[in-house]
Amino acid sequence: MTIVTSLKTGSVISFAGGALEGRGRIDHVASHEGGWLIIADSTPFHPVSFRWPDQPGDRGKIEFGDGTVAEVIDSLTGLVDAGTGALLIGAEAAAIRKNEGDWHGVVAHIVNSDRNILPYLGAEARFLVDATQRKGLSAAHTAAHLAAFALNEAAAPFWKKDYEDRDTRGRPNFDKAAIETANITPEASTDVYRLGKSLKKKGIDRDGLLGQLDSVAGEINQRITAWLAKDARVTVTPSEGQLDEVRVWRTELDGAEVSIPCGGTHVAALSEIGKVNVTLTPTEDGFVMTTRVRTE
Ligand SMILES: [Zn+2]
Repeated sequence: MTIVTSLKTGSVISFAGGALEGRGRIDHVASHEGGWLIIADSTPFHPVSFRWPDQPGDRGKIEFGDGTVAEVIDSLTGLVDAGTGALLIGAEAAAIRKNEGDWHGVVAHIVNSDRNILPYLGAEARFLVDATQRKGLSAAHTAAHLAAFALNEAAAPFWKKDYEDRDTRGRPNFDKAAIETANITPEASTDVYRLGKSLKKKGIDRDGLLGQLDSVAGEINQRITAWLAKDARVTVTPSEGQLDEVRVWRTELDGAEVSIPCGGTHVAALSEIGKVNVTLTPTEDGFVMTTRVRTE
């Protein structure tokens, strides 16, 4: 089902810079599963991506000019066709290929309210993100990036061929080559790695690595503990702009800047993460890396 809107551009977002609050003009309101779907020109809400749904959408509330408050129970990424105003969400948005048509990313706030929201169309509202949930997700997401770098380093001795795709620390990018799914909650990031035929072909010593998961996990935890002790700054840039823009996460590890392309939210400094504990659990065709965080 295509929803027709009068939208011509994507949403401007500020979550990348860590914003929890912002003002926006309500540009689209439609009833949606017993509640409402709201799109604004600008928002601090981070929406779950349909392409790589690792970090869940923000929750929070929208406060309208007359003091009415509506609860946001989820935020989704939608696509708007700049020509026709057609809006796609969920599986229909995922079916659109990158660089196909004139589609622009929008943040669809899913609102649970039996009030009539239609009268607020065109009006300004305040957007307030649930800070507790966001803080946990940001800590777990930053910890997941540290774990990926530490995993690449610990897995480096198990590459039997020269693997060209390297992370910004110069290690073969095992994480990128083997990751199947990632799931972030305020308590942990769960990354599923598959070591199939193609990875073996690329040169990884599958049995060697899977046979030493405990010592690999030990090395990862040691690395992360040392990095956290340095308390480097973390940035995501651009911190504001169109949802579609390519964003880059950066921090400093062992005295050098490192980066990963990322569309999620992060802490502003490594000290905000608290304690991190990584475990590696074997599966039928690889392993699961669980990166638990405890923010203080
Ligand atoms: Zn990320």
